[in-house]
Amino acid sequence: MITTRYTTTQSSFRIGELLSKPGEYAYGKFHALQLPNGSEEFLPVIIAHGRSSGPVLWITAGIHGDEYTGIGVIHRLLTPELLTDLRGAVVSVPTLNPAGLRVGERAPYYLKKLDPNRLFPEPEDGHYAEDERPRLLEGAYARLFEEIKRTASVVVDLHNYSILSIPFAFRDPVYYRNETELTGARELHRQTNELLESFGFTIINEYASRSYLKRNLHRSVSGAAQLVAKIPAFTVELGGYLTIDPTIADAAAVGLRNLMRHMGMLPGDPEPLQGIPILSLDHPVRRMAAVIVPETGIVRFLIRPGMILKQGDPVALLSDIYGRPLGKEGGLLRVEESGIVIGLSQGAAFYEGDHLLSLAVRDDADPILKYPY
Ligand SMILES: [Zn+2]
Repeated sequence: MITTRYTTTQSSFRIGELLSKPGEYAYGKFHALQLPNGSEEFLPVIIAHGRSSGPVLWITAGIHGDEYTGIGVIHRLLTPELLTDLRGAVVSVPTLNPAGLRVGERAPYYLKKLDPNRLFPEPEDGHYAEDERPRLLEGAYARLFEEIKRTASVVVDLHNYSILSIPFAFRDPVYYRNETELTGARELHRQTNELLESFGFTIINEYASRSYLKRNLHRSVSGAAQLVAKIPAFTVELGGYLTIDPTIADAAAVGLRNLMRHMGMLPGDPEPLQGIPILSLDHPVRRMAAVIVPETGIVRFLIRPGMILKQGDPVALLSDIYGRPLGKEGGLLRVEESGIVIGLSQGAAFYEGDHLLSLAVRDDADPILKYPY
């Protein structure tokens, strides 16, 4: 069992304006921002507060507005029966991006092309000029993050990947600045590993260290929770977006209950995870974007998610709009590295330089790293 840094008492606690009640569910609104038509954008918050004291698990979902499965997972998990044996509390936010949810889009319309999952607080406070401050959702996330820092023992952030993808969990690297932070970084990584194992989905490491910071993943929900708040956290990818796959949602609810058992929040032995593929891996893997399209055309995939590929295996046929092969080998495209197919890029028409798939490749890199700056 992990040692958790926060234990609820049997008395109530607050998230924003919402007051929890031991032995009950509390439902409320966390003010996000004011809308120009006079209405309010809010983040829905649910607190399931057990009768006995214990850790506080935060579950967030839908920061990408077209990724719906996390909502279904939260609704499956938060049953009346959950409260019977619950120790501690579960704080859930079914959507971190209400504007995206309303219109079925990844980013909210008022942040245009910004990825909302890169807007959580930075490890260092040097992001803004003196006359600047976080705005819109970024400001709401900064306020919500204060609540996470204050109360969370563990954070799990729920997402979807691509329409043809396997469900899995991401493990982030942990960074440290100096030797005094190294022990803490190792312990954080160890605790996160234990939690990932108890959740039970296939574990895939995030992009390699240099890309992780370049891609601003340290400002994702799980990245900020680990690097700024030093709270164990991970991201779960629940198959395809724009729909809720009931089998995957059921499995994720089982995984979360098993994680809560590991945390001492629920009694009993782990339940079996059913209906989803779990890859058996004898070494760690990380994701990489693979197979660069050599020229613009139409793609026919020859593979499925979950397949194991060897370097040079054929993965797709490229043709023009008339169906005539493009390039060498009758349009055959081959994979550059050996690995397991996590997901196929969405679409039929691909442009020169696009990637065709996500691959889980062998990862021997140290997951605990010194900041390069
Ligand atoms: Zn996402």
